[in-house]
Amino acid sequence: LIQCPRDDRQMFFGGSGLTRPADAEAVAKRLLEVLAEPFVVAGENLTQHASIGVVAWDRVRENSTELIQDADAALYEAKRAGKGRYVLFTPSMRQRAVSSYSIVQELEQALQSDEISMSYQPIVKLAENKVVGFEALMRWAHPERGQVPPDVFIPLAERSDLIFGLGSFALREAISAARAWSRSADPSNRPYVTVNCSARQFHDPNLLSVIEETLTAGGLEPSLLFLEITESVALADIVGTTSMIEHLDHLGIGIALDDFGTGYSSLSYLALLRPKIIKIDKSFVSPARESLYSDKLLEAIVSLGQKLDMIVLAEGIETQVQLDRLLDLGCDLGQGYLFSPAVPAREVAALLDRSSGIRAKRNTARTPAVPRVSRPRTRLRSKRP
Ligand code: C2E
Ligand code: MG
Ligand code: MG
Repeated sequence: LIQCPRDDRQMFFGGSGLTRPADAEAVAKRLLEVLAEPFVVAGENLTQHASIGVVAWDRVRENSTELIQDADAALYEAKRAGKGRYVLFTPSMRQRAVSSYSIVQELEQALQSDEISMSYQPIVKLAENKVVGFEALMRWAHPERGQVPPDVFIPLAERSDLIFGLGSFALREAISAARAWSRSADPSNRPYVTVNCSARQFHDPNLLSVIEETLTAGGLEPSLLFLEITESVALADIVGTTSMIEHLDHLGIGIALDDFGTGYSSLSYLALLRPKIIKIDKSFVSPARESLYSDKLLEAIVSLGQKLDMIVLAEGIETQVQLDRLLDLGCDLGQGYLFSPAVPAREVAALLDRSSGIRAKRNTARTPAVPRVSRPRTRLRSKRP
């Protein structure tokens, strides 16, 4: 079973003349090589990677549906292992697939009840220590399992149409919350909201109309909404992504490139997508092991965003030392437990009320370790305040 990167379509190849699993592996390897060959779009050299799940027919089973389900379970494992891989099916994968299936069923019911909600993590303008927006993050309070993390249930929902229901829910809730904050805020200082968008949702032809309808119903200015996509979402269909970004730009909705640095981070993709915000992944901001190398990478990413005149946001700021370093680098925005975790909508007003600053100001007497990087004067595109 092959998952195409272009449009997420799955294709089943039944190999005849293959006698051993190793033969199927050789075919899978060759297919991956061919599909990974670069191609040119608008003068840019692009590469994409497929994933393959391989199941060997035992010559006993007559149920082809089961065979495809097993291939699907192996495909899922291949995707989890990273891009451009194949995985041979093993029976333990079937168990995992069955438990995933039951989570998806429970999730479907959860969406009808009030187990699913949105929480909001403040986005802080670092130099001013001021909240300028919030990232909407989904929460599932399961009656028996407790809090189920979104990076567990979102990928499962992505494998069914449930992701569309969850995506619309996130948009509706986030827009209505942002509308409520903007009503009480000073008009020049209205906090925006960023909403995470998964691959199938972003490449759904109905997305634009869903957003437009939700914005109109919620009465929110489009400029107060950003969609967060990851590089892998963008790469799933680079042509569709650039056209979607143009349409969103036309509506006044910006894009934030999430988890930047964890995907391909190709400079040509960045130039093609031109997101308003790049969100540096927390692995660069609070690396598991501090090293000169990880610090240099952080510096390079901040400077790259600044040179392309994008707003640079650092994710996962946990310590004062990390914050000081980002301030020294001239990083615009930040999020992290140092300021606040994501909070329920009812607690947002209190965070905004702490208008003197979300946390105690840094000790400005400290000499910066590295001089601040000055912002380029030339602007590639206009920035939002
Ligand atoms: P993300 O969009 O990169 O969100 C940032 C994650 O980092 C959040 O985890 C947030 O709670 C966590 N975080 C924030 N500050 C810190 C910090 O200082 N340290 C550390 N270690 N972590 C921090 P969360 O809420 O568990 O979300 C995980 C992922 O699930 C998100 O990553 C996003 O990819 C996905 N997700 C969450 N909500 C939605 C949604 O509504 N729709 C979609 N499609 N995906 C969502
Ligand atoms: Mg995000
Ligand atoms: Mg992120």
